[in-house]
Amino acid sequence: TFLTMMHWSLKRQSSWVQLAGHQGNFHLSEGGEVLKLYSEGEAACLNLLMKDPLRPFVPQYYGLVTRGEHCYIRLEDLLSGLRRPVIMDCKMGVRTYHEEELIKARSKPVLRNDMYQKIIRVDPSALSAEEHAQKGVTKWRYLHWKDTTSSTSTLGFRIEGIMMEDGNIQRDFRNILTLAQVTEILLFFTRNQLNVLVIGSSLLFIHDHSNKASVWMIDFGKTVPLPDISDREDGYLLGLTSLIASLSQAMHL
Ligand code: ATP
Ligand code: MG
Ligand code: MG
Repeated sequence: TFLTMMHWSLKRQSSWVQLAGHQGNFHLSEGGEVLKLYSEGEAACLNLLMKDPLRPFVPQYYGLVTRGEHCYIRLEDLLSGLRRPVIMDCKMGVRTYHEEELIKARSKPVLRNDMYQKIIRVDPSALSAEEHAQKGVTKWRYLHWKDTTSSTSTLGFRIEGIMMEDGNIQRDFRNILTLAQVTEILLFFTRNQLNVLVIGSSLLFIHDHSNKASVWMIDFGKTVPLPDISDREDGYLLGLTSLIASLSQAMHL
């Protein structure tokens, strides 16, 4: 309830906000933790990451907990103790769907009206006559549309959301396609305070009044180990390279 939430956030001294993802998948928790709705893949990935050299760049993972009828992943709250933080979520990679999603879309397609609605609200002309007639698209079609109409497919990452220190949240970065456009947004994010520009192998950028800045890797719902013999690259490294290029452009502006 609202009162309990207020009680928690007062007690926890955290300015909790969820920039991306399904609203309702997260819960506040006591003691500097957030709870994210359980998924097998993400829990498995976090278990591996806690034993990996990348561990310092990942929020602490404390295992699972059940609340009501749902199971949750317990994570370190990265915003705990920060006052009026500025946050940016960058989704990494040249695509945001699994091959299985594509295979499913081809073999036994499930048509989603909600995703059709989301596309039509932005660009009705992106849909074929058949899709208009069906009033539905597959999840793959929707994710692919988002990837190809954002900087994801070209730069290997896209900005999903930014919260400024006044609490103002921006989530619509669809027309941010080029490196120059991304650089402009990064400058807005840092409010031209270039001393807080940092880069790491990450997704969630945070800074606040104290001029301390950090970058965290989050969101491993679709992250799986690569087979031993594989040269597959889903664009995470390309995304990092683009981000670094954009940040160094910002520093020279
Ligand atoms: P997606 O639709 O991108 O797959 P998701 O439901 O898997 O989203 P995440 O991307 O993990 O969710 O997180 C959504 C948002 O919640 C992030 O943008 C961030 O604002 C916030 N968040 C996630 N994990 C943490 C954390 N450990 N500490 C603080 N904030 C967090
Ligand atoms: Mg996410
Ligand atoms: Mg996710």
